[in-house]
Amino acid sequence: MGKSFEHFQYNLTAESKIFAIAPDDYHNSVILPEVILEWFELCDAIWRYDYDSPKPGYHALLKSGLHSDGFLLAPEVLKYHNLRRIIARQFFLRWAEIGISEDEKKQWASIGFSRDWEKVNPKPDYVAGIPKAAKELGRNTAESLYANFVRLEKKEDGLMELIDKIPAGKTCLIVEDICTKGTGFREAVSAIKKKSPNAILMPYEFVIVNRGGLKEIEIEDIGYFQIVALVEHRINEWSADECPLCKRGSISIKPKAIPENWELIKNGQK
Ligand SMILES: [Zn+2]
Repeated sequence: MGKSFEHFQYNLTAESKIFAIAPDDYHNSVILPEVILEWFELCDAIWRYDYDSPKPGYHALLKSGLHSDGFLLAPEVLKYHNLRRIIARQFFLRWAEIGISEDEKKQWASIGFSRDWEKVNPKPDYVAGIPKAAKELGRNTAESLYANFVRLEKKEDGLMELIDKIPAGKTCLIVEDICTKGTGFREAVSAIKKKSPNAILMPYEFVIVNRGGLKEIEIEDIGYFQIVALVEHRINEWSADECPLCKRGSISIKPKAIPENWELIKNGQK
């Protein structure tokens, strides 16, 4: 018996390390972007081109046909309920900070954000997560913000649909896993407005990773939405003709077409 216990103790798999990340440990502290990216590493959900390596290796060929020097797989992170809860709480902390001064932030940090935040910045009535990857994160964020959860789903034809109704005059916040150009966000807004035209959208999009450097998204006749990201992590994209990685002899492959490709792209420069 003793032996198997030792085995358990000293051979932690990546998954057991992930499950050991406890939401309570991060309840009132803003997590550094580097730490969140480390969790992506632990979940095997990130690849970055190594510009310092002498080996040209491989790089990513995206669904759009563009080539890129990085790749993120948010579903591999968001499948863990503890990580979803932590990220949702981080959204709450960012939410609580909106509209308050630096001095107030310091004061609030010392008392744990527990008091009066809603007087400064009213919370949304509803929260929706952009499908598929962030749908459940929407549920966790709703819990974290003491709001209702509404379901956005992708239909078979690929269009987004708001499953539940948002009553007229009620506010809704949209959250997403990774924002690039705001395409998913635009679809989510039009799906919500189609079903609930008199819902009020909060002027933000909360995302885990902002990979395109976008600051805000403008939607005609509705307004501007500020991007609030836990991590600013730039990934470059180019057309095949203009790809500098192809020019240095690197080969473009679809990172997730087959498992072997993911191993090639991760290890090709080692
Ligand atoms: Zn290329």
